[in-house]
Amino acid sequence: MTAKRIALLPGDGIGPEIAAAARRLLERLGDFEFSEHLVGGGSIDAHGTALTDDVLDACRGADAVLLGAVGGPRWETTDPNAPRPEQGLLGLRKGLGLYANLRPVRPSPALVDSSPLRPERIKGTDLLVVRELTGGIYFGDSGREGDSAHDTCEYSGGEIERIARVAFEAAERRAADQGRSPRVTSVDKANVLETSRLWRETVERVAGDHPAVELDHMLVDNAAMQLVSDPTRFDVLLTENMFGDILSDESAMLTGSLGMLPSASLGASTPGLFEPVHGSAPDIAGQGVANPLATFLSAAMMLRHGLDRAEQATAIEVAVDSALERGLRTPDLVGGAPPAVDTPAAPGPNEVGTEAMTDAVIEALAA
Ligand code: NAD
Repeated sequence: MTAKRIALLPGDGIGPEIAAAARRLLERLGDFEFSEHLVGGGSIDAHGTALTDDVLDACRGADAVLLGAVGGPRWETTDPNAPRPEQGLLGLRKGLGLYANLRPVRPSPALVDSSPLRPERIKGTDLLVVRELTGGIYFGDSGREGDSAHDTCEYSGGEIERIARVAFEAAERRAADQGRSPRVTSVDKANVLETSRLWRETVERVAGDHPAVELDHMLVDNAAMQLVSDPTRFDVLLTENMFGDILSDESAMLTGSLGMLPSASLGASTPGLFEPVHGSAPDIAGQGVANPLATFLSAAMMLRHGLDRAEQATAIEVAVDSALERGLRTPDLVGGAPPAVDTPAAPGPNEVGTEAMTDAVIEALAA
C-alpha cells in the first residue's frame, strides 16, 4: 500500500489538540504522510488572510484534507473588511469544488442514553445524510422590491445527477462494509416544487445505474417526522441544499452529543475535506479535555470516502465504540456545564481528558 498524503489543518482553539490526537491515531494505523498548515485565525495572524494560496495548493496536492476547527473570540469583529476565520473554510470548499456534504448519524451503543429520543427508538440507528452543498435556493437569484423579497431555487440536471451518484455509491460502500443490502431515500417536495420534480426524475435515472440499491422517495415534511419517530428506517438520505441543511442538523441531534459528530465534504476529482461538526470550543481550549472522538470519526470517514480504505475506517469506529463501552468519557459526554477556562473540572470515576481517551482508542485498535 502506498502512503497516502494528508494535509492536516489543525486550526484554532481545541483544533490543534484534536488534530494532534488524530495524527497520533492515524500514525498507529498505517502509512500516512502528513503536511501541517495554518488555516483560520492562526493564518490571519501570520499572513493577514484565513487561507493562503500556498495552503490551498498544498490541499489540492494531497490525497485528503483533515481539519480541526477554526475561529474564536480573538478574531470576532464587526468590521466587514476585516478577515474572518470562517473564510478559510469557505475558501477551501470553493477552491476544492466540494459539492457533497456527508454526515453519518450512528449513535454509539454506549451512548444511547445521551439521545433526546428513548433508547428503544434510537437503538440501531445508522444513517448517512448526503446533502447537495453548492446549488438550490442558497445560491439562486435573490432580491427585494418595496415590501416584497424573493429567493430563487434553481437546480440543473447535472448538479442533481452528480450528488445522486455520491449517494448511490456511498450506499453501496456502506452496504458492502456491513454485509447487507443498500437503500437510498431521496427527500424532496415534488408535490409542490418544479425543482423537486426534476430532482426526482434525475434520481430515478441515476438509480438505473445502481440496480442493487433500493430507492424510495419521501416528501421533506414526512422525512422530518420520520427522523424522530423511526430513525432506524433510513440508510442513505439524499437531499438538496436547504432541506439537507435542516435535516442534517435534526439528525445530528439524534445522538445528543456534539463532540461525537464527524462530516465529509466531497468534490469531483479533488481531495475531500473531513472535519468534526463542532467548532473550536474556545471555552475549553488548552485544558486537555476536548473530546477527540468526532475528529477520529472524521478520520474514519476520510479513510472510507476519501482514501478507499474501508477496513481501516471500520477499525477506528470499532475502537471508538470499545473505548466508550469501557466507560471512558470526556467531560462533554458526562454532562453538565463545560469547565471554566481557569478551573479545569476534577475528573469523575470514568472521566478522562483528550490524551487518555486517545490512548484508550489506540489500545482498542491494537486489540
Ligand atoms: P463550538 O462547537 O465550538 O462549542 C459549543 C459547545 O460545545 C462549547 O461549550 C464547547 O466547549 C463544546 N464542544 C464543542 N466541541 C467539543 C469537543 N470536541 N469536546 C468537548 N466539548 C466540545 O461552537 P461555538 O461555541 O458556537 O463556536 C466557537 C467558535 O468555533 C466560533 O468562533 C465559531 O465561529 C467556530 N466554529 C467553527 C466551526 C468549524 O470550524 N467548522 C464550526 C462551528 C463553529
